[in-house]
Amino acid sequence: MDILAHALYGAALCSRSGVQSIFIKQGNKKTIKDWTFWASCFFAVIPDLFSLGIYFSYLSIKGIGIRWYGMPYPILFLYKILHSLPSALLIILLIRFIYKPLVLPSLAWPLHIVIDAFLHDQGKFKTPLFFPFINMNIKGINWWENPWVVEIYWLVLMLLWIIIIYKGNKSEHRTSETVY
Ligand SMILES: [Zn+2]
Repeated sequence: MDILAHALYGAALCSRSGVQSIFIKQGNKKTIKDWTFWASCFFAVIPDLFSLGIYFSYLSIKGIGIRWYGMPYPILFLYKILHSLPSALLIILLIRFIYKPLVLPSLAWPLHIVIDAFLHDQGKFKTPLFFPFINMNIKGINWWENPWVVEIYWLVLMLLWIIIIYKGNKSEHRTSETVY
């Protein structure tokens, strides 16, 4: 899944305002003013940002264009460790003890991993779900080779955001009705 969609899925399903609008009757009009919106966007992109992001930034600084081959081992290791459920859950457990309100947004990280598991086939960029403990991955579909997959996940994403915005507006309307 592209990084923008990852961020928006994370924000829709792991921010306070997103969860309230999708799963609870009354929506939340705050959305982007809600700090958990931005925190969930951040957690949703961690696995790609701190592996491929580092590599591509390095290539850009060196004046080399983005390329997918010749990736050094440390980057591939970061990619694996950040796309592994045990590492994500370990960090969430630590967050649970340090700052509990951050737990919901941090769930966007394992959400990224689960989505990737279904949208990556075997190969260098397969999703090593339980790395380094169990060598197991789902045989998914490579999203970058199948435009219809991209169309479907963006369609679902747009529907989610329509619900969030619609319910948020409705609750705003209701609030102003009670005020006047
Ligand atoms: Zn990823």
